[in-house]
Amino acid sequence: MKVIVLGSISPYPKDYLNCPGYLVINGEEKILLDAGNGVSRLLKMPEDLNCLTIVISHFHKDHYADLFALAYASFVYHNLGLLEERIKVYLPNDDCLDLKLLLDMKEHYFDIQTYHADSNFVIGDTKISFMKTVHPILTFASKIENKNQKIVYSADTGIGVKRALTNFAKDVDLFICEASFIREHHKESISHLCAYESAEIAALAHVKQLLLTHFWPEEEKRLYLEEAIPIFRNTIVAQEKEIIDLDIPYQYQKNRDNKKKILF
Ligand SMILES: [Zn+2]
Ligand SMILES: [Zn+2]
Repeated sequence: MKVIVLGSISPYPKDYLNCPGYLVINGEEKILLDAGNGVSRLLKMPEDLNCLTIVISHFHKDHYADLFALAYASFVYHNLGLLEERIKVYLPNDDCLDLKLLLDMKEHYFDIQTYHADSNFVIGDTKISFMKTVHPILTFASKIENKNQKIVYSADTGIGVKRALTNFAKDVDLFICEASFIREHHKESISHLCAYESAEIAALAHVKQLLLTHFWPEEEKRLYLEEAIPIFRNTIVAQEKEIIDLDIPYQYQKNRDNKKKILF
């Protein structure tokens, strides 16, 4: 599997940085984990809409706002005859206005289903499962696995589910984990993680690689990396357009000069 980072910051997009979105590619199948503001501008149109499944972790708008742009893109490309299949969209089964609004968008060539903590979906040879996190609204971490590789995306979470998230991410090839804060700015948030906390979970879970994300738009990404690396060495920070190819061993990927790549 391959992961392309489409968005790395929250809660607002800035310059060429977008709100959360990670495109997982497994052969023909593509799974977009969250569709935050600006994510659609990095998708290849209309190719990336073919065989696309979108999984939204929760109804905070910076995690799903671009669903509206994708609905219009899907609508137009279908009308042009360039798209055949409907885009599958999985939404948390949360009783809220956001869900009702999105369910009304079905005619825009979305095939919408809701999910809960015990749901399992199979897409081609890929399975998706979920874990409820700690956050002000119903939020799910997700796990994508094929027979060779596993990816876990933490979505938004507080440290209250440290043990459960550690178990959920056990031995995965890639752990995409939020790091909303660095330690000095951490105001005892119960709904987000610090970079050092994400690194602790990665170390306890023995993941192969940690991808930190969900950064404050005004903060330097290097600070999150510097906080995490002493705790978990195989850490990289999410950067828009970066491709993490799980078929290439980490030591080769590591040749990328992380310092050189952190331009902001
Ligand atoms: Zn959130
Ligand atoms: Zn968020």
